[in-house]
Amino acid sequence: MADILYTWGHNRPFNAYSNYMRKVFSERIQKLSIDAGFTCPNRDGKLSKQGCTFCSNDAFNPSYCRRYESITVQIEEGIKFHSWRYKNVDKYLAYFQPYSNTYASLDVLKARYEEALAHPKIVGLVIGTRPDCVDDEKLDYLAELNEKYHIVVEYGIESCYDATLKWINRGHTFAKTVKAIEETHKRGLETGGHLIFGFPCESRKDMLAEADILSSLPIDNLKFHQLQILDNTPMNEDYLYNKENYKFFSFDEYVEFIISFLERLNPDIIIERFASEVPPRYNIGQSWGSIRNEQIVQKIEQKMISMKTYQGRLYFPDKEKL
Ligand code: SF4
Repeated sequence: MADILYTWGHNRPFNAYSNYMRKVFSERIQKLSIDAGFTCPNRDGKLSKQGCTFCSNDAFNPSYCRRYESITVQIEEGIKFHSWRYKNVDKYLAYFQPYSNTYASLDVLKARYEEALAHPKIVGLVIGTRPDCVDDEKLDYLAELNEKYHIVVEYGIESCYDATLKWINRGHTFAKTVKAIEETHKRGLETGGHLIFGFPCESRKDMLAEADILSSLPIDNLKFHQLQILDNTPMNEDYLYNKENYKFFSFDEYVEFIISFLERLNPDIIIERFASEVPPRYNIGQSWGSIRNEQIVQKIEQKMISMKTYQGRLYFPDKEKL
């Protein structure tokens, strides 16, 4: 059987980030995580000191990403760290990952971003932040940088439901997320988002409906995570006393759920990540046994091919009009 070429221009059953990046850069680009020393309004007391109840920045930080080192040193360490595995990579995106990386004055942001961009191997930035930590001035500046570099703003969406956002002590509404995505996208900046599946206050139906909600937004790419309970987090406390409220996806259930989600999702949205497991020492709840990201992608992809399904198969943007 001849390969199917989907609307996203390659024959994989979902709109894969790796293919998109190859199209943009014509070579492999690696992301280097940077801890640029920012904090977050949900940690420094502006909104709260507790943080989002699931949050443990340490759990997702690679070992070379150390906030007491300069950004330049972290980039050099990151290049060394990745070089054994990705021998042919020569260009990198600086990924400002932990905490809220637009939560500072514009002068501070300029100094930190431009230190990264001054490195000869850095071709752009991926800036992880909260939707309530951007404004017109910051986005206009990023749009200027975007004329010369590849700039991505990645928002923690986590959920499309205000009740969930409240339950996880997020400190902003979904309307704030929508506004930030719109303002970012309209400036020509690549706009990404991060979503968590498995909060006990959301049903499968609620989670699948998020595909419809996100499909209607001008968002370019998405990352998904299965809910994990991390050590030393408020959610861990809640979990210890209310275990019966939590039901974790088994690996097979998650694969099946993600496929259903993708079927409903706008095929223009690029999928950057399906799931990820923190190191076992941080994970208090259910673990899939340190399964690697490539194995997760492979399993989802193979199953979609065997089911003859694909991203957007059940996406009908004009269904209200039918
Ligand atoms: S998840 Fe992000 S916004 Fe929430 S507490 Fe952690 S760093 Fe702050």
